[in-house]
Amino acid sequence: MITDLPGIENLDVNRKRVIVRVDFNVPIDNKTGQIGDSGRIEKAIPTINYLLESNAAVILITHLGRPKSHREKSLSTKILIEKLRELIQDTDIIQAPFTTPEKLEKLSSKLEPGQILLLENIRYYPEETSDESKVRKAFAKKMARLGDLIVNDAFGACHRAHTTVKELPEILPSYAGFLLKKEIQILSTILNNPARPFVAIIGGAKVSSKMAVLSNLVTRVDSIIIGGGMAYTFLKSKGLKMGDSLVEDEHLSQAFQINDKANFNETGFYLPDDHTIASEFSPDAKVKASGLEIPEGWMGMDIGPKTIKKFEKIIKDAKTILWNGPMGVFEMEPFSKGTMSIAKSLSKNKGTTIVGGGDSMSALKKSGLEDSITHISTGGGATLEFLEGKKLPGIQALLKKV
Ligand code: AMP
Repeated sequence: MITDLPGIENLDVNRKRVIVRVDFNVPIDNKTGQIGDSGRIEKAIPTINYLLESNAAVILITHLGRPKSHREKSLSTKILIEKLRELIQDTDIIQAPFTTPEKLEKLSSKLEPGQILLLENIRYYPEETSDESKVRKAFAKKMARLGDLIVNDAFGACHRAHTTVKELPEILPSYAGFLLKKEIQILSTILNNPARPFVAIIGGAKVSSKMAVLSNLVTRVDSIIIGGGMAYTFLKSKGLKMGDSLVEDEHLSQAFQINDKANFNETGFYLPDDHTIASEFSPDAKVKASGLEIPEGWMGMDIGPKTIKKFEKIIKDAKTILWNGPMGVFEMEPFSKGTMSIAKSLSKNKGTTIVGGGDSMSALKKSGLEDSITHISTGGGATLEFLEGKKLPGIQALLKKV
């Protein structure tokens, strides 16, 4: 069973070199270039500490953003090290340079138990995300020499067929970390037996990145609430005018079909009825309220008050809620109201509430309501795909060993 993933409790790691694939893909503040929210790092600390206390040397691997090459210095794991040192005190944390697997192997062979080696952003290596499985396999073979075994604690990356998520655990003895196990346990219950009504709230910038997920979710949940930038593509697909809002014209017909599929399955499909609109994409723009249609020269930046009320009512009656993606450009104060209201409604709901995705997590933190949510998942896409019933490559790789 998926909940029986091989774990690290009772595992003998004494003097072993343990590769830990973590998901430290944290949001980065545009202005300061520093970590915006460290939730994902904090949640992987119990696994790392446990291994260190069990006398292992730890090799940490993470991705950070989507760098085009190692020249993208703003996505270096160097920005993580200070936070790691704060969270794991009295431990040597060595930053590896961006270099060949052979040189990394040398560094890792010198590690002492209780030390950590943090590798550079694994996506600096094009082999990590290569479409060709033979390229990934060859890379995995080289990376496998860095450790004796691998622990996957990167739930947020498990939906990716990438080398350190899929091929590396296929080669090495591989185990699930505490965070990964917890995510799977909680999400499995919701997947197999959700209390109904089950409502999914999906927001964020672009519909294209969540099209497949939405198409699957409409057959599993009782209602879907759509907010954020993606709502405008749905509204335009119904022939409504959306002014200068973020609309993906090439996806209009797909959006229309999803709405149709929802109707066919008798799944509630709720779009915004009004908006907060701006003259430009800026916190200093002129701002006003608009009805369903948005005039030329204006763009939708947040859901409006009527929509907030409508969404609140649906959330109030739900017994299971899944939230992924903000309702507006919540990073800019004038457009954060919709997202914050949703956070508040969720916090009041007595059912099971699950929030996933980096932006929703940081919005929740901003609202100070984290403690009233049943489960804050470190996964965005992974959480959605898991709840669609898809097999995640990272989990499959671990199950193969059972
Ligand atoms: P995603 O990564 O697709 O979940 O999108 C998250 C991003 O969507 C956040 O940075 C939001 O600022 C952005 N977003 C939400 N609503 C809008 C909107 N109406 N127009 C443009 N961007 C938006």
